[in-house]
Amino acid sequence: MTHYICAGTCGGVSDKPGSCQAEECPLKGQELEPCTCEDGRHGNGTPVDDDEEDED
Ligand SMILES: [Zn+2]
Ligand SMILES: [Zn+2]
Repeated sequence: MTHYICAGTCGGVSDKPGSCQAEECPLKGQELEPCTCEDGRHGNGTPVDDDEEDED
């Protein structure tokens, strides 16, 4: 099912279109990107984690 992700450092995920709401995120206010992955990795090969991680 389609979900919407932030490409910034917050790792935000929403089930509805919208914009990043994370104060600390460099992409705050930017539109979330649609994603249809089913493994929670959003096509990045990195597991979903609340910890801050480098995102290349
Ligand atoms: Zn964000
Ligand atoms: Zn995804």
